[in-house]
Order: sequence, then structure tokens, then C-alpha cells
Amino acid sequence: MYKQHPLIGITAFREVPVADGHSDRYVLRQRYVQALAVLGAAPIIVPLLEDEGALRAIYDALDGLLLPGGTDVAPGQYGEMPHPALGTVDEELDRVELTLVRWALRDGLPILGICRGIQLLNVAAGGSLYQDVQTQRPGTLVHRWLNGEPRDLRKHGFVAVPGSQLAGIVGASPWQVNSLHHQAVKRVAPGLVVSAAAPDGVVEGLELDQPEDRFVVAVQFHPEDLYDTEPRAAALFRAFVDAAGT
Ligand code: MN
Repeated sequence: MYKQHPLIGITAFREVPVADGHSDRYVLRQRYVQALAVLGAAPIIVPLLEDEGALRAIYDALDGLLLPGGTDVAPGQYGEMPHPALGTVDEELDRVELTLVRWALRDGLPILGICRGIQLLNVAAGGSLYQDVQTQRPGTLVHRWLNGEPRDLRKHGFVAVPGSQLAGIVGASPWQVNSLHHQAVKRVAPGLVVSAAAPDGVVEGLELDQPEDRFVVAVQFHPEDLYDTEPRAAALFRAFVDAAGT
């Protein structure tokens, strides 16, 4: 049976704490919602609930989970001490997203991970991250956002691994993607495989090693900033919405 408007949960994150160290607003870039809405999904913003039962009630209603970009994952989640170049972390966001992803992986709920989302997925499944890829991985291309650059600026090459689920969606030819990250996948988690890389070898895509009929696809670039100008970015959202609706 095909669901007309699959319900896609998108986790909200909290504003970077202001002067008093406290933040009381959820924030989410509208383009995540727009990209899904254009394709007929029903996006819903998931707040950072303390009560796991309440979180579960929302989760149970979902047809898919979108993990958006955001702050750094706390390195303690993969057993490392903070590096000096580590950015802002939000342990509450980590806790909620790790909980949701582990449920979704167990249940086979479709997941699309974007930027922080690919990193979170990898950590949830037992992998690790470069806390700052530029300083921890010499010879790496510039992957981070530079002040004033438009978010849709194509910064480096991207090629999907032939035969991967991702290549089935965007093709296996090289193309150029945007890049607004300073962290990256280091040790790939058991059960996941690299589905795309940049020319310098930085992981730009992960998916399930044995997907069967499951959709767990994550990318390091930002397709929500490209979906209206790049058919391959739109195809990624379409494949996710289709999987959620099936
Ligand atoms: Mn990149």
C-alpha cells in the first residue's frame, strides 16, 4: 500500500546558547521542510523531549526520519576526548537523535541523513568521526563553509560507489556538491558501507551494507540547498519519500 503523504520526522536543534548559556528556541532551516513538502511528504518537526515514552509516541507515528545538519556530535559518544577544534555540541540533541536512529535502524524505518546526519548515523551504529577533518587529516580539501559563501556553492567533486543504493539514485558519474562541514566520518560503523567519496577520500556517503528493502542513506553534502537546481539532489529526496510512503 502506498501512503499519499508519508509523515517524515525532522529533529529540531537548539539555538547556540546565548550569553547566559541557556537557549530556549528550537531552530530548523526551512529548506529541509520545503524539499520534503515539494515531493508530497508531510514533514513534522520533532522536539528534544526528555520523556522517552513521549519521544516514542512521536516516533511510532513516523514513516521516515530525516536527520538534518547541525552542531558537532559530542566525542564522548564515540569514546574520544574533545579536540581543540571541536565546535558546539548539544548533548540533549545527541541523546534524542541517537535514540531515534537506533529505533529506526532496528525497525527498518527509512532514514535520510544529511551532514551532521551522516555523522550521527555513523556514531549511532558504532563508528567514529574526525572532530575537525582539516586539522586531523592532512591534505584534505576545504570542506568547511567559508564566511559569505552561498550554501549552494559547489565546492568539490563527489562520486557514488558503483552498485551502491546511492548510485542507483544519483548515478555513478562524478559531479560537484556543496560542502559545509568541518567534521567527517572516520571509522565506518559495522553494518554500514561508504557509498560516496570526495576526490581527497573524505567519506561523503554511507548506507547499509545489506540494505535488502530498507532505505538508510546518508550524505555529507546538503541536498536541501540544491534540490531546486540539481536533479540528483531532488532525486535523493524523492527516493526517500518513496521509501517512506511504501
Ligand atoms: Mn565535503
